[in-house]
Amino acid sequence: MTIKAYGAQAGDRPLESLNITRRAPGARDVQIEIAYCGVCHSDLHQVRSEWAGTLYPCVPGHEIVGRVSAVGAQVAGFKPGDLVGVGCLVDSCQQCAECDDGLENYCNHGVFTYNSPTRDAPGHTLGGYSQRIVVHERFVLRIRHPEAQLAAVAPLLCAGITTYSPLRHWKVAPGHKIGVVGIGGLGHMAIKLAHAMGAHVVAFTTSDAKRAAAKKLGANEVVNSRNADEMAAHAQSFHFILNTVAAPHALDPFFNLLKRDGTMTLVGAPPTPHPSPQVFNLIMKRRSLAGSLIGGIPETQEMLDFCAEHGIVADIELIRADEINEAYERMLKGDVKYRFVIDSASLAG
Ligand code: NAP
Ligand code: ZN
Repeated sequence: MTIKAYGAQAGDRPLESLNITRRAPGARDVQIEIAYCGVCHSDLHQVRSEWAGTLYPCVPGHEIVGRVSAVGAQVAGFKPGDLVGVGCLVDSCQQCAECDDGLENYCNHGVFTYNSPTRDAPGHTLGGYSQRIVVHERFVLRIRHPEAQLAAVAPLLCAGITTYSPLRHWKVAPGHKIGVVGIGGLGHMAIKLAHAMGAHVVAFTTSDAKRAAAKKLGANEVVNSRNADEMAAHAQSFHFILNTVAAPHALDPFFNLLKRDGTMTLVGAPPTPHPSPQVFNLIMKRRSLAGSLIGGIPETQEMLDFCAEHGIVADIELIRADEINEAYERMLKGDVKYRFVIDSASLAG
């Protein structure tokens, strides 16, 4: 069927209204009427081909929430009317060690929600800036939040899981001092999640204007990362730092804040490299530099249930689809509190 979407025809073109087609649901597919879709900085990187290799037309969007409208004959877990979500993945090989471990995000043949090869027209996946999507049931998540919170749940599908997964993997717990670098879509979720896990949370920002708001999000302390004295006051004190920054920047000032055996994990994915770290800043205290990619499907469900239980949603600004180009410009300036979410009803025109 033909539906409305918002996307770009080339990397140097603004996003515009497009007509796209979706397949009819197969035996194990779930068809979802999209209510809201969050706007991730990865959408901007990819629609502008900043990571190279973008396939056009590009319809971004991988923070999708809505209601099931139809299911295939063999779908047992979902029925029409269910509140559901779809994140960054819509398929994987389902045969490799990563898929067996529920870490489909690390499958070599994972199919991302947009910009991945597929048998459906036009030959690559098209994302959630659209009215409807059809997804294999294994990649559909159940939403247990109240329906009134649905728009603010959308960003959990990427920003939530991308920060929850490393916080869990590096075993963030009460008594730990945790840093979150960058208070954007990912960073503000990391602050809320690490706070809910009982850690002492320090937010690092380049925007003094975000200081008060960061405390409201759950940060115990806020540091301007461009202020050397403020940084020095936290030397060698962190168990773990999660770095969400979308642009290249010096990592060494953050290594110096880690205790012995501390880890800084990068989830921010700038299009060009960070300046190379000083090896001595790692070896002198057996520190680690790591990376992490979204999260697997079982852990995404665990994160959604954790957030429902703890009353956690994103802080959002709801926009119309035709406001997306302006929203991207504001995101580049760090001027979003803290996630734009598209109201899919606006796609109808
Ligand atoms: P965002 O909302 O734009 O937030 C990024 C934040 O980084 C900004 O709000 C700003 O925070 C800080 N920042 C921006 N430019 C900076 C600079 N030059 N120096 C220092 N700080 C700067 O972006 P997002 O949606 O959270 O995404 C962040 C990054 O994560 C993107 O690169 C995205 O592609 C990536 N990502 C990765 C994964 C994964 O699986 N690893 C998943 C999703 C997204 P302050 O104003 O507080 O300084
Ligand atoms: Zn994302």
